[in-house]
Amino acid sequence: MSNFGEFYGENVFNDCIMKERLPKATYKALKKAIEKGATVDLAVADVVALALKDWAVEKGATHFTHWFQPLTGITAEKHDSFINPTEDGKVLLEFSGKELIKGEPDASSFPSGGSRATCAARGYTAWDMTSPAFVKDETLYIPTAFVSYTGEALDKKIPLLRSMEVLSKEAIRVLKALGNTTANKVTTTVGPEQEYFIVDKKLYDKRPDLIYTGRTLFGAKPPKGQELEDHYFGSLKERISDYMKDLDKELWKLGISVKTKHNEVAPAQHELAPIFTTTNVATDTNQLTMDVMKKVALRHGLVCLLHEKPFAGVNGSGKHNNWSMSTDDGQNLLDPTDAPHKSKQFQLFLTSVIKAVDEYSDLLRASAANPGNDHRLGANEAPPAIISVFLGDQLQDLIEQIEKGEVTSSISAGKLDLGVSTLPKLIKDPTDRNRTSPFAFTGNKFEFRMVPSSGTIADCNTVLNTIVAEVLSEVADRLEKAADLDAEINAILTETVKEHSKIIFNGNGYSDEWVVEAEKRGLANIKTTVEATKAYITEKNVALMEKHGVLSKLEMHARYDVNLEIYAKTTNIEAETTLEIAKRQILPAVIKFETSLAKSISAVKAAGVSAGVQCELLAEVDELAVALKKNIGELEASVEKAQALDGDAYAVAHFYKFDVFEKMQAVRAVADTLETLVDKDVWPLPTYGELLFNV
Ligand code: ADP
Ligand code: MG
Repeated sequence: MSNFGEFYGENVFNDCIMKERLPKATYKALKKAIEKGATVDLAVADVVALALKDWAVEKGATHFTHWFQPLTGITAEKHDSFINPTEDGKVLLEFSGKELIKGEPDASSFPSGGSRATCAARGYTAWDMTSPAFVKDETLYIPTAFVSYTGEALDKKIPLLRSMEVLSKEAIRVLKALGNTTANKVTTTVGPEQEYFIVDKKLYDKRPDLIYTGRTLFGAKPPKGQELEDHYFGSLKERISDYMKDLDKELWKLGISVKTKHNEVAPAQHELAPIFTTTNVATDTNQLTMDVMKKVALRHGLVCLLHEKPFAGVNGSGKHNNWSMSTDDGQNLLDPTDAPHKSKQFQLFLTSVIKAVDEYSDLLRASAANPGNDHRLGANEAPPAIISVFLGDQLQDLIEQIEKGEVTSSISAGKLDLGVSTLPKLIKDPTDRNRTSPFAFTGNKFEFRMVPSSGTIADCNTVLNTIVAEVLSEVADRLEKAADLDAEINAILTETVKEHSKIIFNGNGYSDEWVVEAEKRGLANIKTTVEATKAYITEKNVALMEKHGVLSKLEMHARYDVNLEIYAKTTNIEAETTLEIAKRQILPAVIKFETSLAKSISAVKAAGVSAGVQCELLAEVDELAVALKKNIGELEASVEKAQALDGDAYAVAHFYKFDVFEKMQAVRAVADTLETLVDKDVWPLPTYGELLFNV
């Protein structure tokens, strides 16, 4: 890949290309608007649109699309071509500033959670100029925000952008109150690590459950799972390595700076991580990354599974949302530097994050809830469903000093002497890692590890930005009024630590003791999406979002409804797929096996021997077949009941979780036992062993 410099970013309209392609005045106007958070006028937009179109057409584009992120959490696009017929029978390729700035998709088929009447179809998309346009599949993609005719946010991007502005405003107030006058803007930075599974397409095609639901609804435990821990960071298989190389290249072409890749804990599981960037760009590029991951896999005869839990009994996938705050004068506000005990600014920002997470842990938990994540959180593999903050030795020590009211020292990084003269002495980080914490300090940022692998990172970052902005606004209010600034800073720090250190936990988050301890501390343990989603409509959380203008009450209620609806619909699809496979594939295979056993029994008995083994096996299998049939019947009845419910979204989702889902599990349990008894040749589905190891 010696021509790396030539193709990196070739399909993205980045700053460098803008500078090259736009007249100087237009470039300056656009840059200023992006940096200062203003809009551009139509004349500027016209010039940008023309340059964008010419550049895209040179790259082979024939169409453009306003690319947006509706409440389903995935992306949406409608393609329009650039062509405009002329009177003499030819066409011109055109793209105007108006088309760049505003689009008008029919919004009626996108979920609005009741924030818009079904008959009111009009919706608009608005150009997000802070996220660069790109060319993919002969189409110019323009990142946009999606809003209803009456102005409600119908997407994940508008609240995210609002939360970024709010955080910047409040963080700047704190910095100014502290006498820091050079920073004018604070940006939240995000680097999302993305986990995924890869399976063979030929095997995938034989699994309706993977096709319809993204996860296996059946499958007995294979003889080998992840117990040897030989996959984590293991040497890459050639097919996987080829896929990853191709993927890197495709992502680099789009200017997505993927940097790290490795095998994960579970067999067939992998991870990739880009270099961090501004939150909305990180969100857009993560959506794009997921799309490219799936498409490139198909080229290699593979399928990329982004589901949180494709395989029962094997670790699932998540996203690690690395998050920090940076000023436009180059400071990372969560960088402890060598002597965090000397920086009141660092201490204020650190304790503000701790307080925010403690005060609004329910909202943060809700932001990571989706149907797939219910299989992970709290299942001793991913973070527990309990939100806590890990600080590590250095910051824990700092916090303890703050609590005592006297901060005089910092634990510093040591050196590791490996005892071999030819090996280098390694400089240690001041803090060890903790894999079991949902919200861990990792050097100069926090890593929120609950985020679902298939989901958008827009939700959790909207919440993080807003809750931290709220605490910073309280800090700023006090600092701005303080007669004695130093005394007020110390008072804020000590109070915050005293009131909120209950959220700090540096131990093993997977242990049973932690569940007990967390309950004693009064921390919530919200295990299901259905329960978690309630956080969107509590008075306190609605007031918070309204105060900062991030989401209105109506918009919060819409998200509550949509998330519950998605839960119910997803579970309904899973239940229907369970029934389809159980009734039309598994039961017939079992009957076939029973028939062959019965034939064998007659034949063997005719030869004058007892056929004892066959008889025993037939009895065992038949008993399970009866149980399977019974459980199928119960699941069918439950689904029917669920589909007839016309209560509120919560009641419906609740029924799906606590009735339909339980009955699906019962069907699966019997079927998985049957899989261990029935002749492999008649079993209709590729096994876990094949799926996980045959790549
Ligand atoms: P690990 O697996 O050790 O946690 P990785 O290197 O896989 O680390 O991922 C760390 C992620 O954190 C990367 O995406 C990286 O760019 C990101 N990151 C580093 N510094 C910051 C920061 N200041 N703000 C946000 N993200 C950051
Ligand atoms: Mg990490």
